[in-house]
Amino acid sequence: MVTLHRTDLRPPYRVTLIPGDGTGPEITEATVRVVEATGVPIDWEVKEAGINALEKFGSVLPDDVLESVRRNKVALKGPITTPRGGGFRSVNVALRKLLDLYACVRPAKWYPGVRSRYENIDLVIVRENHEDLYAGLEFEKGHPAIRVVSDLCVQNGMEPIREDAGLSLKVISEWGSERIVRFAFEYARAYGRRKVTAVAKDNILKYTDGLFFAVARRVAEEYSDIQYEEMLVDNMTMQLVQRPENYDVLVLPNLYGDILSDLSAGLVGGLGVAPGANFGDDLAVFEPVHGSAPRYAGQNKVNPMAMMFSAVMMLRYLGEMSAADRMEQAMAAVIREGKSVTYDMKPHRDDPTAVGTSQVADAIVEKLRHMD
Ligand code: NAD
Repeated sequence: MVTLHRTDLRPPYRVTLIPGDGTGPEITEATVRVVEATGVPIDWEVKEAGINALEKFGSVLPDDVLESVRRNKVALKGPITTPRGGGFRSVNVALRKLLDLYACVRPAKWYPGVRSRYENIDLVIVRENHEDLYAGLEFEKGHPAIRVVSDLCVQNGMEPIREDAGLSLKVISEWGSERIVRFAFEYARAYGRRKVTAVAKDNILKYTDGLFFAVARRVAEEYSDIQYEEMLVDNMTMQLVQRPENYDVLVLPNLYGDILSDLSAGLVGGLGVAPGANFGDDLAVFEPVHGSAPRYAGQNKVNPMAMMFSAVMMLRYLGEMSAADRMEQAMAAVIREGKSVTYDMKPHRDDPTAVGTSQVADAIVEKLRHMD
């Protein structure tokens, strides 16, 4: 059973802190300052992963990073670069896999002052993190396995696969679907949400998305206090653009979840304010949705709020509800005033009144001081 509010950890909390690379260390420094200003005592265990770790320790994901998260049960993580073409596979994906962080949670909440086409949005996307087309079961064009699969298709009365085709397999299991849907309902219950919408495309993908819906329907029966509905993913994209206020918690297989979480981030102001968390049954890693934005590294320029909102989620996970609420209110006040915000939250990206990463933290710390 998943843990959504920890009752086993006591202050001072020991939290693994992975600053990441690119702009990661700057937004991490700003976030740590704000978290500390809430007064919650945290003993940060700083661990390096990514290119810096490769240079220092010979591995992009040293074992002691994983051991630290397993031991502490909670981590706050900055973004980590995945070089294009060759190099290493994504450290972010590896971390989620090796720690079995199967549930990706991405809230999309609108705050007054955020420039967006929509207002009053408060959605939570719950995305399955391991299965679906992301399982890594792929064959390059010309691979002999494609011929084997093609022959099997023909033997079962289906069309053969063209010889010039590549092949990626979509895998959705009952087990994987059950735990992500159960997670979504538990999350809805823990956070006082009213409705869970399962999203897939079973009219076409009968044996994968059909299975996902069948499992979701069965799990939903155990949660009579939460409304349940199903939606085809194509319709869902249109509904989110036309009537986003009608939705609450959305639960989706991996690929649809990836696409709809970016769409939802776009509804409420973009990547600079989009937080995220990855949950396993007994541990959680909190991180912004955005990447390392390497071209801005070292410039004190990017928005630290996505990582700060991820830290607000972390405080709630630790059971520090009042500190989380105060931190969120202080951030909301800074957003509402619109003065101490980074370039991406100004009407024009080259607005000379935009402040830097660390000045955003200064302004939020100041608000927190006045709330005491
Ligand atoms: P990105 O999110 O780093 O940046 C895309 C653009 O979004 C930036 O150029 C910038 O304009 C804007 N942006 C991003 N974060 C912002 C912020 N905090 N404030 C203001 N503007 C912001 O995406 P990318 O350029 O595709 O990826 C860069 C690297 O990050 C890649 O190596 C990618 O693999 C990696 N990545 C890591 C994670 C993660 O660590 N979880 C997630 C996504 C991408």
